[in-house]
Amino acid sequence: MKSILIGLFIFVAASFAQAKLNVVATTADIAALVTVVAGDNIHLSQIAKGSQDPHYIEAKPSFMVKMRDADLVITNGLSLEVGWLPTLIKGARNPKISAGSKGYLDLGSLITPIEKPMGSITRAMGDVHPEGNPHFTLDPVRRSELALKIADKLSDLDNTNKEVYQTNAKKYQEAITKKMADWLVRIKASGVKTVVTYHPSMNYFMDRFELKVPIHLEAKPGIPPSAQHILSVIDTVKKENTKLILVDSFFDTKIADRIVKEAPKTKAVSVGIAVNSLPQLKTLEDVTEQLVKAIESAK
Ligand SMILES: [Zn+2]
Repeated sequence: MKSILIGLFIFVAASFAQAKLNVVATTADIAALVTVVAGDNIHLSQIAKGSQDPHYIEAKPSFMVKMRDADLVITNGLSLEVGWLPTLIKGARNPKISAGSKGYLDLGSLITPIEKPMGSITRAMGDVHPEGNPHFTLDPVRRSELALKIADKLSDLDNTNKEVYQTNAKKYQEAITKKMADWLVRIKASGVKTVVTYHPSMNYFMDRFELKVPIHLEAKPGIPPSAQHILSVIDTVKKENTKLILVDSFFDTKIADRIVKEAPKTKAVSVGIAVNSLPQLKTLEDVTEQLVKAIESAK
């Protein structure tokens, strides 16, 4: 009896001492980045799976339950989750995590985005993100800087683990700096200058490694290509001597395969563009490494 009581006391004391922060990450990539910073010092849950297109997630009640108990929600922002996150936040009825409050960290607002559209945006332009391209987690440099911002926010809400968060984020940034040097050398050595992709989802990666994307398979983001546009892609691939077409793993490679038939000097490769989009992609660095290898394979 006594030992049970002591055990119970230790259990209760421990749960008081380590009331871990409840954190919700909206996507698999953000969850991976938060894990780098926080390890198992927080309770982390995520909404979109890596194998799902993060633009289109069903706002399920079970996600609202996750958010109801959250101390912090970390979002991609730049309108990536515009179709579902506001519904979840509203349904969660948790004032701690409403947009703009202390428990809401919008990573997109902390970076300088690429491809911010000029002038007015109309429906005819497709699913254009008005604040710029939201797929920044594929840029190793931006994400290592964001690790520091995540560490600051976690430290703010949970001062006891401040040292751990700050140290992990700094170590991550150092590791990325080293890896970047290697990736840059390898991409340069490949001689690849242009890559065609399905959706603008890899543009931050391409931008970081100075690879040109002359055309996307989608003529407009979120809209499948017309026969006319496929002809322009074939034309561009030939003219630019593009050796590689990368297709996000949740899209069919059928169209890319058709282009390869017409332009046989190029090849189509299906790639995962998020953590856990494919079983072997366990970390953001695995995703980057896979993209670098795809480029090396096209030389
Ligand atoms: Zn997109």
